[in-house]
Amino acid sequence: MQYTVPHYYKQFHCAAGACPDTCCAGWQIQIDPVSLQKYKKTKGALGNRLKNEIDWKESCFRQYDGRCAFLNDEDLCDLYLEGGGERAFCRTCRTYPRHIEEFEGLREISLSLSCPAAADLILNCSEPVRFLHAENPDRDETYEEFDFLLFTKLMDARSLILKILQDRTWPVTLRAAAALALSHDLQERIDKNALYDVDTLLDRYSSDNVMNWFEARLQELNRSDSWEKRRSKTRLGFFSLFDQLEVLRDDWIPYLHNARKTLENAPAPGKEAERCFHDLFSDVVEEQLLVYFVFTYFCGAVYNGNAYGKMKFSIAGMILIREMVRAEWLAGKSCDMSCMIRTAWRYAREVEHSDYNKTTMEHLLSSEEIFGIEDFFSIL
Ligand code: SF4
Repeated sequence: MQYTVPHYYKQFHCAAGACPDTCCAGWQIQIDPVSLQKYKKTKGALGNRLKNEIDWKESCFRQYDGRCAFLNDEDLCDLYLEGGGERAFCRTCRTYPRHIEEFEGLREISLSLSCPAAADLILNCSEPVRFLHAENPDRDETYEEFDFLLFTKLMDARSLILKILQDRTWPVTLRAAAALALSHDLQERIDKNALYDVDTLLDRYSSDNVMNWFEARLQELNRSDSWEKRRSKTRLGFFSLFDQLEVLRDDWIPYLHNARKTLENAPAPGKEAERCFHDLFSDVVEEQLLVYFVFTYFCGAVYNGNAYGKMKFSIAGMILIREMVRAEWLAGKSCDMSCMIRTAWRYAREVEHSDYNKTTMEHLLSSEEIFGIEDFFSIL
């Protein structure tokens, strides 16, 4: 078995009592089959409580006011306290905020952006993220249905996408545009069952001229009269995605409503205002968010064949976080790194903590009519 982690992985420390939130509220904590069996066999008072506080049909802990049934008034976990510590946890509680993507013979482990301490590490990382690899030859596995050829091409494409995203000789706008276009072209080959042609595609996107081409193309699009209109329309479209998602936290809707209102009422930003905002939400922050989303989700396309959708989901995530921070900035609230970190983990809690939300968002973004490649370019 091989393992991959981002280089900052080992620097993680839970903020514990200083955490501005808790892991145990605002999402449905799924219980793995092994833990379910263990809970079923638990005797005594704790056993009775488990019987009542687990939704056995959905395999998750019950919630009251959005809080896990075992989270007590002091924000401590009763299951931990009464069940003998960490061994009482299910897999989700044991591993969070570690997020594990499973592929045949490979586990890719990231730190979830939804954890404030992890978001702090991710957004405060100034150097390009490196990925570390390890191997445990004693643990091996085969999946019955795993498209290894597609997976190999996705891994190759993702390596190049990450390289493009981390090429700091270019503005991140161009890097993101090239990464999106690459995944668009890759998708055409996946749909046509033409994976044999992917290597040629990757060679083309590795050439020195590719960024010059995107620079010229974006400049040309920028000159068009309708560009600003398209940008506002796309931003509106991104925010409208939330209308179709399930809401995990009560304070999310008012927060979103205020952000949308501020952005809609704001005058078109001048060059100076854009520069000031960019000093705050810099290329490095955008890069780290993009790298986070791409590393975490892109290769999951091996299970649904939608590489372009994963890339759109990644870019939309970065843009939505950026635009929410912009709304706070426009509203004159004190806006600094901690504001960006808070916005990032709040977004991640709403979107990444719900499989329904992730799938729905990817599906909605597949509308080329509303979210075509140039619509994305307009808002980068
Ligand atoms: S959300 Fe992160 S920092 Fe907060 S308690 Fe959970 S693991 Fe610790």
